[in-house]
Amino acid sequence: MSKNPVISEIVEGYKPIWALDHVSALLEWDMETYMPEGSAKGRGFAQAQAALMKQKTTTDLTALVTKAEKLSGLDDYDRGVVRVMKRDIDYFMKIPPKLLEDIQRTTTEATVVWREARKKSDFEMFSGYLEKIVDLKRQEADKLGYSGHPYNALLDKFEEELTTNDVDRIFSPLVPNLKKILGKVQSEGKFPSKHPLESVSYQTEAMRRVNEEILKILGMPDKTFRMDVSTHPFTTAMPIDDVRITTRYEGKDFKESIFSTIHESGHAIYELQVNPSLDYTPLARATSLGVHESQSRFWENFIGRSKEFTEVLYPTLKSNLPFISGHNPLDVYSYFCTVKPSLIRVEADELTYNFHIVLRYEIEKQLIAGKLQVSEVPSVWNDAMEKYVGIRPKNDAEGVLQDVHWSGGGFGYFPTYSLGNVIAGMFFHRIKKDMDVKEAVRTAGLSKIKMWLKEKIHQYGAIYSPKELQKRLFGEEYNPEWLVRYLEEKYTT
Ligand code: MG
Repeated sequence: MSKNPVISEIVEGYKPIWALDHVSALLEWDMETYMPEGSAKGRGFAQAQAALMKQKTTTDLTALVTKAEKLSGLDDYDRGVVRVMKRDIDYFMKIPPKLLEDIQRTTTEATVVWREARKKSDFEMFSGYLEKIVDLKRQEADKLGYSGHPYNALLDKFEEELTTNDVDRIFSPLVPNLKKILGKVQSEGKFPSKHPLESVSYQTEAMRRVNEEILKILGMPDKTFRMDVSTHPFTTAMPIDDVRITTRYEGKDFKESIFSTIHESGHAIYELQVNPSLDYTPLARATSLGVHESQSRFWENFIGRSKEFTEVLYPTLKSNLPFISGHNPLDVYSYFCTVKPSLIRVEADELTYNFHIVLRYEIEKQLIAGKLQVSEVPSVWNDAMEKYVGIRPKNDAEGVLQDVHWSGGGFGYFPTYSLGNVIAGMFFHRIKKDMDVKEAVRTAGLSKIKMWLKEKIHQYGAIYSPKELQKRLFGEEYNPEWLVRYLEEKYTT
């Protein structure tokens, strides 16, 4: 791929790291799907050893990458290799092994305690661990280094070059605009806050057939892709010819299963469309979590929750789910787009979802800056829920204890969910310049949309950083205006 011998040597040296990632991804997928319940200890040990091997193999490439950084005449591919490897090496070099081990051990224990605390709705049970984790994350930020806010160091880990300035710039217009749209939907009732289809039970086997049909409509490949079942749906990529998703069957409110399938398929389509020439290199991956989430949100909301897609899907629903017969496509569409402020993030509709993120972002930022004590978090959380969503949690299980992220040390992760929505809005605006999206969906021309996404983003893998990619395609970064316009048009006109 590269004409430069130093870059070629780095790519060659990366192959065992690629293989380790492949192995770890498969172990993780298995753990979430088929692994016997009592086998977590051995799996944890194997994963920790794989992580140590990865650290060693990655840092072994330090001298070569340092040499490559000084080279001139590199092309986009070469620069991508250097950029990605430097980020990986930096992380391993800057974090002392003792800190890495402390984080690993504390978060593993904390996740078990958090599960129990959530069950009992007892924040006190978990707060000691949360204090330790915040302290470790503050140490991590110091070791990684940052300019401006210490939280920037943690944001950058999940989304390259993302800063609190970027996130503040996104949320400050987004939040009031979303509030305005929400108010209008609630007063004018274009979409309901409740729908009778929510409480209808379905047979898992029938829903499984519906999901299989959805995969066909989306054109998911037979031989390099599979779908299984898990409580929390996810996508596992083992680039480049093996991508797996999961979906869920809860027995009622069938849209949850449908949109899990479409969301995860959106992630899978990204992975499946990376240029095969990047196979086994550091660039055979998505450029960032935010861009990845933009793909899943694009398919789930902008395509999946459209009137046109509902019409395409309707015959499949009707032939598999007998209770659909009393509901026409327009009625099913309004069920798909129900707007209801709720306390639980993972149940939020596309309009209120970002409120859940801004709340978490504000709390994380203050905790990492040392401006908020862990003991104050539940009441700050509840006040913010009331401020943004208009309802107050009755207990901590439906408030501060609902997400797994903090127990796992994932400070800095939440904002990437909203970035996904914002970037999806930018894509939607941009793709409409090149094609009639409604028409493409109506005529089941989804391959046309997939081709467009491949050409504009997927094929590049991680060659460009998320900000570079946006600048190339949109001429701007993280502009929330397009998301707002899409939501305004859909929900208020
Ligand atoms: Mg996702």
